[in-house]
Amino acid sequence: MKTGQTFHERAAAALAKVKAEAAALRSRLEKSRQALQSNTSLSQALEGLGRGWRHQRVGKYGPTWYFLRYSAPKAETLGGLKVSKSEMCWLAELADDPEEMRQGRRLNTYSDKLERVPVAIATFEEIEKAECPACKAQVPLVECMHQTRDSYDYDVWETWHYALCLECETVTELKHDIDEY
Ligand SMILES: [Zn+2]
Repeated sequence: MKTGQTFHERAAAALAKVKAEAAALRSRLEKSRQALQSNTSLSQALEGLGRGWRHQRVGKYGPTWYFLRYSAPKAETLGGLKVSKSEMCWLAELADDPEEMRQGRRLNTYSDKLERVPVAIATFEEIEKAECPACKAQVPLVECMHQTRDSYDYDVWETWHYALCLECETVTELKHDIDEY
C-alpha cells in the first residue's frame, strides 16, 4: 500500500484502472469480432462460389452461392417483351474442380448411368457488377439463396445480394429479400 493512501483510496484507484482496461479490451474484442465476421463471410462466399455449381436444387439443402449474367436470348422469348433477365452462373477459375465443372453437373438418377447437365459457366467480363460501398470500385455482384423454412404452412426463401471486393477483402450485403410461399 502506498504511503498516505487509505485502503479505500487504493481500491478506488484499482477499480478505475481495471474499468479503463476493460473498456479498451472490449473495444479490441469488438474490432476482432468484426474482423472475424468479415473474414468468415469472405471465405464462405469464395468457397460457396467454388461449389455452388454442383447444387441440383439451388438453395434447397443449404445456401447456394452464384454470380449473375444478363441472359438476352431468354429475355427475348418472353412474348416479344424486352425484359432484363439474369441467369445464375459460375466462374471456372473459382470452381473447386474446373475440369469436372466443364463436364457438367452430376444428376442423381435411379439408373446406373451417370448423367450430367451443362453448367452455366461465365467469364469475368460477363458477370454483373455492383459498386463496392467501401472503395467505390465496380466489383462482382454475388448472390446467395437459401430456403430457411420448409413447413406445411409456408416456405421461406431468402436471397442475399452482395458486392464481392477483393481489394477491400469484403463481401458487403447490398440487399436481402425474404419470400414466403
Ligand atoms: Zn472495395
